Amino acid sequence: AKVNAEQIWFNGELMPWQNATVHVMSHALHYGSSVFEGIRAYNTHKGTCIFRLEEHIDRLFDSAKIYRMNIPFTREEVMQACRDSVAENGLNSAYLRPLAFLGDIGMGLRPADDAKADLMVAAFSWEAYLGADAMENGVNVGVSSWNRIAPNTIPTAAKAGGNYLSSQLISREAARHGYTEGIALDVNNYVSEGAGQNLFLIRKGIIYTPPGSCSILPGLTRDTVITLAKQMGYEVREELIAREALYLADEFFMCGTATEIVPVSTVDGMQVGCGKRGEITKKIQDAFFGMFDGTTEIADNWLDPVK
Ligand code: PMP
Repeated sequence: AKVNAEQIWFNGELMPWQNATVHVMSHALHYGSSVFEGIRAYNTHKGTCIFRLEEHIDRLFDSAKIYRMNIPFTREEVMQACRDSVAENGLNSAYLRPLAFLGDIGMGLRPADDAKADLMVAAFSWEAYLGADAMENGVNVGVSSWNRIAPNTIPTAAKAGGNYLSSQLISREAARHGYTEGIALDVNNYVSEGAGQNLFLIRKGIIYTPPGSCSILPGLTRDTVITLAKQMGYEVREELIAREALYLADEFFMCGTATEIVPVSTVDGMQVGCGKRGEITKKIQDAFFGMFDGTTEIADNWLDPVK
């Protein structure tokens, strides 16, 4: 999708979109040395607010730490860059993309100890990632022939650019087979995650999601869903999920910052439950969007006003 924002924050200042460029010899371009975030700002009862901003920026710094990448800004400065990117572009709601990367630091795989990352933040409008009617009617997905990245290879707890080579294989294969999205199994062939979403299954009223050990990104939407579901009195189990459990689920949904909460109506061509958005999925969706009109009670710091 073509993205439009007038101003992009790059290394400390907002600048016109067309000026925010990098050199072809950038380390990240050659070796994949980038870490990033995907965050949403919503038009809420408290004005335009960024959802769980602090925790997203913590995850950005965690990702950078895993790769020993030095981000030459404080967390507070990055948070302010996010707020400014939304406010200065006059957006009421937005998708935000902070990205730290090794730029033109010279060739050679191993960066110098004092190498500093470049940092950019873009904010732009991005509506429903999996299509407008997906939220209600659900999507068709298929289990990918590609496994998710193995533990102790490329760590999936870091949201790094390179991880998305795996996601591209999964998502493009899914599209070739006519699915909206692909579901990956981990190297032990337990259910892991979507190309860019965490997964939840519901069977006999109990909610299941793969644990951190299944090569997932520890998603903030996943954490939000777990928190809201428990608040509503549901039992949530983080446990290993076998492939066939996808076929036997009463309800199945995917979640992520861009995706939000999207029901799955078929998996590998097999109907999930009644083939429509399930009752519990609907309740969780309502609780999710209720956070932005004040009908769902949440921690104060989950909504960070842009000004
Ligand atoms: N897994 C992957 C691979 C993702 O790219 C994303 C989207 N960031 C998620 C899960 C969901 O994470 P979050 O809810 O924090 O956006």
